[in-house]
Amino acid sequence: MSTYERNYLLERFLNYVSFDTQAKIGAKYSPSSPGQLKLAKYLAQELQALGLKEINLSPNGILTAYLPSNVMNAPTIGLIAHLDTSPDCSGKNVNPEVIVNYRGGDIALGLGEQFISPVMFPFMHQLIGKTLIVTDGTTLLGADNKSGIAEIMTALSILKNSEQAHCNIRVAFTPDEEIGLGMQFFQIDKFPCDWAYTIDGGAVGELEYENFNAGGATVTIFGNGIHPGYAKDKMINALTLACEFQQLLPTDEVPEKTADKQGFFHLNRFVGDINKVELHYLIRDFDSDNFEQRKTFLINAVAQFNQQKDLHKPIQLELQDSYKNMYNCIRQVPQSIALADRAMRECGITPNHKPIRGGTDGAWLAEQGLACPNIFTGGYNFHSIHELISLEGMESAVQVILKIVELAVEKD
Ligand SMILES: [Zn+2]
Repeated sequence: MSTYERNYLLERFLNYVSFDTQAKIGAKYSPSSPGQLKLAKYLAQELQALGLKEINLSPNGILTAYLPSNVMNAPTIGLIAHLDTSPDCSGKNVNPEVIVNYRGGDIALGLGEQFISPVMFPFMHQLIGKTLIVTDGTTLLGADNKSGIAEIMTALSILKNSEQAHCNIRVAFTPDEEIGLGMQFFQIDKFPCDWAYTIDGGAVGELEYENFNAGGATVTIFGNGIHPGYAKDKMINALTLACEFQQLLPTDEVPEKTADKQGFFHLNRFVGDINKVELHYLIRDFDSDNFEQRKTFLINAVAQFNQQKDLHKPIQLELQDSYKNMYNCIRQVPQSIALADRAMRECGITPNHKPIRGGTDGAWLAEQGLACPNIFTGGYNFHSIHELISLEGMESAVQVILKIVELAVEKD
Protein backbone atom coordinates (compact mmCIF):
# COMPACT_ATOMS: atom_id res chain seq x y z
CA MET A 1 0.00 0.00 0.00
CA SER A 2 1.36 3.45 -0.86
CA THR A 3 2.34 5.85 1.92
CA TYR A 4 -0.42 8.10 0.68
CA GLU A 5 -3.08 5.39 1.10
CA ARG A 6 -1.60 4.31 4.43
CA ASN A 7 -1.80 7.85 5.81
CA TYR A 8 -5.26 8.22 4.40
CA LEU A 9 -6.35 4.98 6.12
CA LEU A 10 -5.17 6.37 9.46
CA GLU A 11 -6.75 9.75 8.78
CA ARG A 12 -10.09 8.17 7.89
CA PHE A 13 -10.04 6.03 11.02
CA LEU A 14 -9.22 8.98 13.30
CA ASN A 15 -11.96 10.99 11.63
CA TYR A 16 -14.64 8.28 12.06
CA VAL A 17 -13.86 7.71 15.75
CA SER A 18 -14.43 11.42 16.37
CA PHE A 19 -18.18 10.78 15.81
CA ASP A 20 -19.95 9.74 19.01
CA THR A 21 -22.05 6.79 17.82
CA GLN A 22 -22.63 4.91 21.07
CA ALA A 23 -25.70 2.65 20.86
CA LYS A 24 -28.36 3.10 23.55
CA ILE A 25 -29.56 0.05 25.44
CA GLY A 26 -33.32 -0.40 25.49
CA ALA A 27 -33.94 1.60 22.30
CA LYS A 28 -36.92 0.51 20.21
CA TYR A 29 -36.01 2.41 17.06
CA SER A 30 -32.83 2.50 15.12
CA PRO A 31 -30.58 4.40 14.98
CA SER A 32 -30.64 4.57 18.76
CA SER A 33 -28.40 7.66 18.84
CA PRO A 34 -28.19 10.68 16.48
CA GLY A 35 -24.42 10.40 15.99
CA GLN A 36 -24.88 7.20 13.99
CA LEU A 37 -27.01 9.01 11.42
CA LYS A 38 -24.49 11.85 11.32
CA LEU A 39 -21.68 9.44 10.55
CA ALA A 40 -23.83 7.64 7.95
CA LYS A 41 -24.54 10.95 6.19
CA TYR A 42 -20.86 11.79 6.20
CA LEU A 43 -19.99 8.38 4.75
CA ALA A 44 -22.67 8.77 2.06
CA GLN A 45 -20.83 11.87 0.84
CA GLU A 46 -17.55 10.00 0.80
CA LEU A 47 -19.08 7.15 -1.18
CA GLN A 48 -20.47 9.71 -3.61
CA ALA A 49 -17.01 11.26 -4.04
CA LEU A 50 -15.61 7.77 -4.70
CA GLY A 51 -18.13 7.37 -7.50
CA LEU A 52 -20.19 4.53 -6.04
CA LYS A 53 -23.67 3.87 -7.44
CA GLU A 54 -27.08 3.33 -5.84
CA ILE A 55 -26.12 5.16 -2.65
CA ASN A 56 -29.03 4.90 -0.28
CA LEU A 57 -29.36 6.06 3.31
CA SER A 58 -32.54 4.72 4.92
CA PRO A 59 -34.33 6.64 7.70
CA ASN A 60 -33.04 3.90 10.02
CA GLY A 61 -29.48 4.88 9.29
CA ILE A 62 -28.63 1.96 7.02
CA LEU A 63 -26.26 3.14 4.31
CA THR A 64 -25.81 0.99 1.20
CA ALA A 65 -23.93 1.53 -2.05
CA TYR A 66 -22.84 -0.38 -5.14
CA LEU A 67 -19.61 -0.59 -7.07
CA PRO A 68 -20.17 -2.50 -10.33
CA SER A 69 -17.49 -4.88 -11.53
CA ASN A 70 -15.11 -3.90 -14.31
CA VAL A 71 -15.32 -7.37 -15.90
CA MET A 72 -18.16 -9.47 -17.32
CA ASN A 73 -20.10 -12.11 -15.35
CA ALA A 74 -18.59 -11.36 -11.98
CA PRO A 75 -20.21 -12.41 -8.71
CA THR A 76 -21.41 -9.84 -6.17
CA ILE A 77 -19.80 -9.70 -2.75
CA GLY A 78 -21.10 -7.62 0.16
CA LEU A 79 -18.84 -5.77 2.59
CA ILE A 80 -20.45 -4.80 5.88
CA ALA A 81 -19.38 -2.83 8.95
CA HIS A 82 -21.36 -1.23 11.77
CA LEU A 83 -21.60 2.44 12.69
CA ASP A 84 -22.32 2.17 16.41
CA THR A 85 -20.03 1.57 19.36
CA SER A 86 -20.71 -0.45 22.49
CA PRO A 87 -22.99 0.84 25.27
CA ASP A 88 -20.47 -0.64 27.76
CA CYS A 89 -18.05 2.29 27.56
CA SER A 90 -18.31 5.95 26.54
CA GLY A 91 -17.50 6.83 22.95
CA LYS A 92 -17.82 10.58 23.38
CA ASN A 93 -14.84 12.88 22.75
CA VAL A 94 -12.58 10.02 21.81
CA ASN A 95 -9.06 11.36 21.95
CA PRO A 96 -6.82 8.73 20.34
CA GLU A 97 -3.07 8.61 20.61
CA VAL A 98 -0.86 7.26 17.86
CA ILE A 99 2.28 5.46 18.99
CA VAL A 100 4.78 5.05 16.17
CA ASN A 101 7.15 2.08 16.46
CA TYR A 102 5.89 0.59 19.73
CA ARG A 103 8.91 -0.47 21.77
CA GLY A 104 7.18 -3.00 24.00
CA GLY A 105 6.24 -2.67 27.65
CA ASP A 106 3.41 -0.74 29.29
CA ILE A 107 1.60 2.02 27.47
CA ALA A 108 0.32 4.85 29.68
CA LEU A 109 -3.03 6.14 28.48
CA GLY A 110 -3.74 9.87 28.51
CA LEU A 111 -2.57 11.43 31.76
CA GLY A 112 -1.22 8.08 32.83
CA GLU A 113 -3.82 6.99 35.37
CA GLN A 114 -4.68 4.04 33.15
CA PHE A 115 -2.30 1.87 31.21
CA ILE A 116 -2.21 -1.23 29.09
CA SER A 117 0.41 -3.81 29.81
CA PRO A 118 1.68 -6.93 28.02
CA VAL A 119 1.43 -8.67 31.41
CA MET A 120 -2.33 -8.39 31.18
CA PHE A 121 -2.47 -8.50 27.37
CA PRO A 122 0.30 -10.84 26.10
CA PHE A 123 -0.73 -10.24 22.46
CA MET A 124 1.05 -6.86 22.78
CA HIS A 125 4.38 -8.68 22.37
CA GLN A 126 3.42 -9.36 18.74
CA LEU A 127 2.87 -5.67 18.12
CA ILE A 128 6.42 -4.47 18.83
CA GLY A 129 7.63 -2.17 16.06
CA LYS A 130 4.13 -1.41 14.85
CA THR A 131 2.15 1.81 14.86
CA LEU A 132 -0.53 1.52 17.54
CA ILE A 133 -3.61 3.62 18.10
CA VAL A 134 -4.79 3.69 21.72
CA THR A 135 -7.26 5.69 23.81
CA ASP A 136 -6.55 8.37 26.42
CA GLY A 137 -8.00 6.07 29.08
CA THR A 138 -11.38 7.82 29.37
CA THR A 139 -13.33 6.26 26.47
CA LEU A 140 -13.28 3.26 24.18
CA LEU A 141 -11.45 3.74 20.89
CA GLY A 142 -14.22 2.73 18.49
CA ALA A 143 -12.01 0.45 16.38
CA ASP A 144 -15.05 -1.80 16.81
CA ASN A 145 -16.17 -1.15 14.13
CA LYS A 146 -14.89 2.11 12.65
CA SER A 147 -11.69 0.35 11.64
CA GLY A 148 -13.90 -1.90 9.49
CA ILE A 149 -15.49 1.16 7.89
CA ALA A 150 -12.10 2.81 7.28
CA GLU A 151 -10.74 -0.43 5.80
CA ILE A 152 -13.67 -0.83 3.41
CA MET A 153 -13.49 2.85 2.40
CA THR A 154 -9.76 2.63 1.78
CA ALA A 155 -10.18 -0.52 -0.32
CA LEU A 156 -12.85 1.25 -2.41
CA SER A 157 -10.62 4.29 -2.83
CA ILE A 158 -7.69 2.12 -3.99
CA LEU A 159 -9.95 0.28 -6.46
CA LYS A 160 -11.15 3.58 -7.85
CA ASN A 161 -7.60 4.62 -8.68
CA SER A 162 -6.44 1.30 -10.12
CA GLU A 163 -7.14 -0.98 -13.05
CA GLN A 164 -7.39 -4.06 -10.86
CA ALA A 165 -10.17 -6.40 -11.95
CA HIS A 166 -12.75 -6.81 -9.20
CA CYS A 167 -16.17 -8.35 -8.68
CA ASN A 168 -19.37 -6.39 -8.06
CA ILE A 169 -19.25 -4.96 -4.57
CA ARG A 170 -22.14 -3.98 -2.37
CA VAL A 171 -21.33 -2.01 0.75
CA ALA A 172 -23.51 -1.66 3.86
CA PHE A 173 -22.82 0.40 6.96
CA THR A 174 -25.40 -0.46 9.57
CA PRO A 175 -26.44 0.98 12.97
CA ASP A 176 -26.98 -0.62 16.36
CA GLU A 177 -25.14 -3.90 15.91
CA GLU A 178 -24.08 -3.78 19.56
CA ILE A 179 -27.67 -3.88 20.79
CA GLY A 180 -28.88 -6.30 18.09
CA LEU A 181 -31.35 -3.79 16.70
CA GLY A 182 -30.06 -2.31 13.43
CA MET A 183 -30.42 -5.40 11.26
CA GLN A 184 -34.14 -5.65 11.99
CA PHE A 185 -34.59 -2.76 9.58
CA PHE A 186 -32.22 -4.10 6.93
CA GLN A 187 -33.95 -4.73 3.61
CA ILE A 188 -32.07 -7.71 2.38
CA ASP A 189 -33.92 -7.85 -0.95
CA LYS A 190 -32.29 -4.52 -1.78
CA PHE A 191 -28.85 -5.94 -1.05
CA PRO A 192 -28.56 -8.81 -3.56
CA CYS A 193 -25.18 -10.51 -3.05
CA ASP A 194 -23.82 -13.99 -3.70
CA TRP A 195 -22.32 -13.75 -0.25
CA ALA A 196 -20.92 -11.07 2.05
CA TYR A 197 -18.35 -10.40 4.78
CA THR A 198 -18.59 -8.37 7.93
CA ILE A 199 -15.24 -6.69 8.62
CA ASP A 200 -15.72 -6.78 12.38
CA GLY A 201 -13.27 -9.30 13.85
CA GLY A 202 -10.19 -8.85 16.01
CA ALA A 203 -6.56 -9.91 15.50
CA VAL A 204 -5.05 -10.26 12.03
CA GLY A 205 -6.01 -13.60 10.49
CA GLU A 206 -9.31 -14.09 12.28
CA LEU A 207 -11.94 -15.70 10.08
CA GLU A 208 -15.22 -16.53 11.78
CA TYR A 209 -18.27 -18.27 10.39
CA GLU A 210 -19.75 -20.16 13.31
CA ASN A 211 -21.52 -18.70 16.31
CA PHE A 212 -23.74 -19.93 19.11
CA ASN A 213 -27.31 -21.01 18.75
CA ALA A 214 -28.78 -18.76 21.38
CA GLY A 215 -31.88 -18.65 23.52
CA GLY A 216 -33.13 -17.58 26.89
CA ALA A 217 -35.17 -19.16 29.67
CA THR A 218 -37.11 -17.61 32.51
CA VAL A 219 -38.01 -19.84 35.45
CA THR A 220 -40.62 -18.32 37.76
CA ILE A 221 -40.94 -19.72 41.28
CA PHE A 222 -43.79 -18.88 43.65
CA GLY A 223 -43.61 -18.79 47.43
CA ASN A 224 -45.86 -17.99 50.34
CA GLY A 225 -44.69 -15.18 52.61
CA ILE A 226 -45.70 -15.52 56.27
CA HIS A 227 -44.44 -13.61 59.33
CA PRO A 228 -41.24 -15.51 60.19
CA GLY A 229 -42.39 -15.85 63.81
CA TYR A 230 -45.37 -17.96 62.79
CA ALA A 231 -43.98 -19.51 59.63
CA LYS A 232 -43.61 -23.15 60.72
CA ASP A 233 -45.15 -25.51 58.15
CA LYS A 234 -46.70 -22.56 56.35
CA MET A 235 -44.00 -20.41 54.79
CA ILE A 236 -42.78 -21.31 51.32
CA ASN A 237 -39.65 -19.31 50.55
CA ALA A 238 -39.33 -18.79 46.81
CA LEU A 239 -35.70 -17.69 47.28
CA THR A 240 -34.76 -21.01 48.89
CA LEU A 241 -36.59 -22.93 46.20
CA ALA A 242 -34.76 -20.95 43.52
CA CYS A 243 -31.40 -21.89 45.04
CA GLU A 244 -32.46 -25.53 45.04
CA PHE A 245 -33.57 -25.33 41.44
CA GLN A 246 -30.25 -23.83 40.39
CA GLN A 247 -28.51 -26.90 41.92
CA LEU A 248 -30.15 -29.10 39.27
CA LEU A 249 -28.09 -27.48 36.53
CA PRO A 250 -24.70 -28.88 35.49
CA THR A 251 -22.11 -26.87 37.44
CA ASP A 252 -19.40 -27.17 34.77
CA GLU A 253 -21.53 -25.96 31.86
CA VAL A 254 -21.27 -22.25 32.65
CA PRO A 255 -19.47 -19.44 30.78
CA GLU A 256 -16.67 -19.23 33.34
CA LYS A 257 -15.77 -22.90 32.83
CA THR A 258 -16.21 -23.32 29.08
CA ALA A 259 -14.31 -22.29 25.94
CA ASP A 260 -14.09 -22.92 22.19
CA LYS A 261 -17.17 -24.83 21.09
CA GLN A 262 -18.53 -25.82 24.50
CA GLY A 263 -22.03 -24.65 25.28
CA PHE A 264 -23.51 -23.49 28.58
CA PHE A 265 -26.41 -22.40 30.76
CA HIS A 266 -25.78 -18.96 32.18
CA LEU A 267 -27.80 -17.69 35.14
CA ASN A 268 -27.49 -13.97 34.45
CA ARG A 269 -30.28 -12.54 36.56
CA PHE A 270 -31.84 -13.64 39.85
CA VAL A 271 -34.62 -11.32 41.00
CA GLY A 272 -37.37 -11.55 43.57
CA ASP A 273 -38.35 -12.06 47.19
CA ILE A 274 -39.98 -14.71 49.38
CA ASN A 275 -43.18 -14.60 47.34
CA LYS A 276 -41.79 -14.77 43.84
CA VAL A 277 -38.44 -15.28 42.17
CA GLU A 278 -37.46 -15.12 38.52
CA LEU A 279 -34.33 -16.90 37.31
CA HIS A 280 -33.13 -15.68 33.92
CA TYR A 281 -30.85 -17.95 31.94
CA LEU A 282 -28.96 -17.63 28.68
CA ILE A 283 -28.70 -20.89 26.76
CA ARG A 284 -25.85 -21.23 24.26
CA ASP A 285 -24.59 -24.07 22.07
CA PHE A 286 -22.83 -24.31 18.69
CA ASP A 287 -24.52 -27.61 17.86
CA SER A 288 -28.22 -27.26 17.12
CA ASP A 289 -29.10 -30.74 18.47
CA ASN A 290 -27.27 -29.97 21.72
CA PHE A 291 -29.03 -26.62 21.84
CA GLU A 292 -32.42 -28.38 21.61
CA GLN A 293 -31.27 -30.84 24.29
CA ARG A 294 -30.42 -27.97 26.60
CA LYS A 295 -33.96 -26.66 26.28
CA THR A 296 -35.35 -30.16 26.88
CA PHE A 297 -33.12 -30.45 29.94
CA LEU A 298 -34.73 -27.34 31.43
CA ILE A 299 -38.24 -28.55 30.59
CA ASN A 300 -37.50 -31.84 32.37
CA ALA A 301 -35.83 -30.13 35.33
CA VAL A 302 -38.91 -27.98 35.87
CA ALA A 303 -41.25 -30.99 35.55
CA GLN A 304 -39.14 -33.02 37.99
CA PHE A 305 -38.98 -30.13 40.47
CA ASN A 306 -42.73 -29.65 40.34
CA GLN A 307 -43.35 -33.37 40.87
CA GLN A 308 -40.95 -33.76 43.81
CA LYS A 309 -41.86 -30.62 45.66
CA ASP A 310 -45.66 -30.79 45.56
CA LEU A 311 -45.83 -26.99 45.41
CA HIS A 312 -48.96 -24.96 46.04
CA LYS A 313 -48.26 -23.30 42.71
CA PRO A 314 -46.03 -25.08 40.19
CA ILE A 315 -42.96 -23.27 38.90
CA GLN A 316 -43.17 -21.99 35.36
CA LEU A 317 -40.76 -22.03 32.45
CA GLU A 318 -40.65 -19.71 29.48
CA LEU A 319 -38.22 -20.36 26.62
CA GLN A 320 -37.25 -18.01 23.78
CA ASP A 321 -34.90 -18.47 20.81
CA SER A 322 -32.73 -15.47 19.92
CA TYR A 323 -30.34 -16.33 17.08
CA LYS A 324 -28.95 -19.33 15.28
CA ASN A 325 -25.51 -20.57 14.33
CA MET A 326 -24.74 -18.93 10.99
CA TYR A 327 -22.75 -21.97 9.88
CA ASN A 328 -26.05 -23.66 8.98
CA CYS A 329 -26.28 -21.16 6.11
CA ILE A 330 -22.59 -20.57 5.39
CA ARG A 331 -21.77 -24.26 4.89
CA GLN A 332 -24.00 -24.14 1.80
CA VAL A 333 -21.74 -21.40 0.38
CA PRO A 334 -18.33 -22.91 1.17
CA GLN A 335 -16.65 -20.65 -1.41
CA SER A 336 -17.26 -17.72 0.97
CA ILE A 337 -14.88 -19.32 3.48
CA ALA A 338 -12.47 -20.71 0.88
CA LEU A 339 -12.06 -17.34 -0.84
CA ALA A 340 -11.34 -15.45 2.39
CA ASP A 341 -8.92 -18.17 3.44
CA ARG A 342 -7.07 -18.05 0.11
CA ALA A 343 -7.00 -14.25 0.05
CA MET A 344 -5.39 -14.18 3.50
CA ARG A 345 -2.77 -16.76 2.51
CA GLU A 346 -1.93 -14.83 -0.66
CA CYS A 347 -1.42 -11.76 1.54
CA GLY A 348 1.00 -13.75 3.70
CA ILE A 349 -1.44 -14.09 6.59
CA THR A 350 -2.20 -17.40 8.31
CA PRO A 351 -5.98 -17.65 8.63
CA ASN A 352 -7.25 -18.39 12.11
CA HIS A 353 -10.63 -20.11 11.77
CA LYS A 354 -12.36 -19.36 15.02
CA PRO A 355 -15.85 -19.84 16.45
CA ILE A 356 -17.59 -16.73 17.81
CA ARG A 357 -18.78 -17.20 21.38
CA GLY A 358 -21.53 -14.67 20.83
CA GLY A 359 -23.71 -13.41 18.02
CA THR A 360 -23.09 -11.09 15.08
CA ASP A 361 -25.02 -9.29 12.40
CA GLY A 362 -23.84 -12.17 10.22
CA ALA A 363 -26.07 -14.53 12.23
CA TRP A 364 -29.09 -12.41 11.36
CA LEU A 365 -28.09 -12.27 7.68
CA ALA A 366 -27.54 -16.04 7.62
CA GLU A 367 -31.09 -16.57 8.86
CA GLN A 368 -32.24 -14.50 5.89
CA GLY A 369 -30.15 -16.74 3.63
CA LEU A 370 -27.11 -14.51 3.08
CA ALA A 371 -23.83 -16.25 3.99
CA CYS A 372 -21.66 -13.70 5.77
CA PRO A 373 -18.40 -14.79 7.44
CA ASN A 374 -16.57 -12.30 9.64
CA ILE A 375 -13.06 -11.03 8.85
CA PHE A 376 -10.52 -9.42 11.17
CA THR A 377 -10.04 -5.65 11.53
CA GLY A 378 -6.70 -5.80 13.38
CA GLY A 379 -8.17 -4.51 16.68
CA TYR A 380 -8.05 -5.78 20.28
CA ASN A 381 -9.85 -5.31 23.61
CA PHE A 382 -13.07 -4.04 22.11
CA HIS A 383 -15.73 -2.33 24.29
CA SER A 384 -13.24 -0.93 26.78
CA ILE A 385 -10.74 1.86 27.47
CA HIS A 386 -8.03 -0.72 26.72
CA GLU A 387 -9.09 -0.98 23.10
CA LEU A 388 -6.26 -0.65 20.58
CA ILE A 389 -5.46 -1.33 16.96
CA SER A 390 -2.33 -1.40 14.83
CA LEU A 391 -2.11 0.52 11.57
CA GLU A 392 -0.32 -2.46 10.04
CA GLY A 393 -3.25 -4.70 11.03
CA MET A 394 -5.66 -2.30 9.37
CA GLU A 395 -3.50 -2.33 6.24
CA SER A 396 -3.62 -6.13 6.23
CA ALA A 397 -7.42 -5.99 6.36
CA VAL A 398 -7.47 -3.61 3.37
CA GLN A 399 -5.15 -5.95 1.45
CA VAL A 400 -7.33 -8.97 2.24
CA ILE A 401 -10.45 -7.12 1.06
CA LEU A 402 -8.69 -6.14 -2.19
CA LYS A 403 -7.48 -9.70 -2.70
CA ILE A 404 -10.96 -11.13 -2.10
CA VAL A 405 -12.64 -8.92 -4.69
CA GLU A 406 -9.78 -9.65 -7.13
CA LEU A 407 -9.78 -13.45 -6.69
CA ALA A 408 -13.58 -13.53 -6.94
CA VAL A 409 -13.45 -12.76 -10.67
CA GLU A 410 -10.84 -15.39 -11.46
CA LYS A 411 -12.15 -18.07 -13.77
CA ASP A 412 -11.10 -21.57 -12.84
ZN1 LIG B 1 -18.32 -4.98 16.22
